[in-house]
Amino acid sequence: MPRDVRMRGFAERADVEEVESFLRQNTTALLSEVVPLLECVGRVLARDVVAEVDVPGFPRSAMDGYAIRGEESFGASDYDPIAFGVIGTALPGNPYPGSVEAGQAVRIMTGAPLPGGADAVVMAEVCQEDLKAGRVEVSEAVAPRKNVGVIGEDIRKGERVLFAGRRLRPQDVGLLSSIGHARVDCVRRPRVALVITGDELLPAGARPSGAKIVDSNSVVMRGLVDRDGAESLPFQILPDVPERIAEAMSNQEADVVLVSGGSSVGQEDHAPRLLSQLGSLDFHGISMRPSSPTGIGRLGDAFVFLLPGNPVSCLAAYEFFAGPTIRRLGGRSGAWPHRVASWPLARKIASAIGRTDYVRVALEEGHAVPLATSGASILSSTVRAVGAVIVPREWEGIAEGDSVEVLLYDEDRSE
Ligand code: AMP
Ligand code: MG
Repeated sequence: MPRDVRMRGFAERADVEEVESFLRQNTTALLSEVVPLLECVGRVLARDVVAEVDVPGFPRSAMDGYAIRGEESFGASDYDPIAFGVIGTALPGNPYPGSVEAGQAVRIMTGAPLPGGADAVVMAEVCQEDLKAGRVEVSEAVAPRKNVGVIGEDIRKGERVLFAGRRLRPQDVGLLSSIGHARVDCVRRPRVALVITGDELLPAGARPSGAKIVDSNSVVMRGLVDRDGAESLPFQILPDVPERIAEAMSNQEADVVLVSGGSSVGQEDHAPRLLSQLGSLDFHGISMRPSSPTGIGRLGDAFVFLLPGNPVSCLAAYEFFAGPTIRRLGGRSGAWPHRVASWPLARKIASAIGRTDYVRVALEEGHAVPLATSGASILSSTVRAVGAVIVPREWEGIAEGDSVEVLLYDEDRSE
């Protein structure tokens, strides 16, 4: 090592909560953009939506049957049916043009507009039509308004149907379609630049060979960025060359920059110095395990996260800091996105007061088993794990048998 390059070490480390609150205070949702209706599922609504129309906009039949004046059917029964003259048909999208007078009926299908003059629909099951005679016998009385959907039955004009901040579900977008929206104001999706650094890295898709390892962090980060509703920008793997890293970090398109690797205080760890020169390095070194050599700062309008290269550290630092920030920028919640389950702990977890731990646990026979944890480099620990337990800063650890809340990795687990 040249004489002028010294390992600095972290003088002091910030608490996880301090960093979290800094990020919370400095993050607001991005501005809105107009999104075509068919691309809106999963997007976050930027403003309230008020219906400008009634749905339905006309009274409609809720049944296949006959539109009549309801009171004319009073007294009808199997033994004493009442006959009506059938004057035509009303179909969905194809109304009967005339009006129903006394003693008349219009054959009508579900969803068809109720013809003028009629006020009820008697269902086909209690009607006997004689096509030749042009008559229908009704054997059950139907009250006025029966089997008729009124104007605005589904959605009323002026109604606030969806609120800003709503993450649009498929049926929400269906409703937007039904009130005639073609485009929707959604919070812009954050754009995330990945800066994957390391002389030792081969790109995803390569085979590990010799002293080279294959980049896995970008693959994990892209998956998480996608989960969090953001878009990852195209990227390249960069050598540990300061100029290259500085250039990639300064990506003008990015709302968030995730730098993987070189975040610590080693000889090849350029990112912290570069960030403090080009922007601000607000935190460097966090009291947590793994991920303590994490750095956080800003460059232009972007948040920059310096994530340690060790795969578990990279994942945990993303989950603690980058993930919540990305979600908030996208108008979502900064809370942990995982479902939570509780199990008794199979073995104690040792921690240290003052440090927050992110412990992977497997599920065995109804117990959460902490996985041999020293290895921040052991990506497979996150694969064997059902989820993670967080040991808060104030705790010395968690005793065997205590119930622990596990942040589940699998979103679809249903038990
Ligand atoms: P660094 O944070 O650059 O000191 O890297 C810490 C460890 O993580 C080293 O063993 C690296 O080889 C490894 N590492 C760095 N970047 C990646 C990556 N993108 N994918 C997998 N491992 C990585
Ligand atoms: Mg490195």
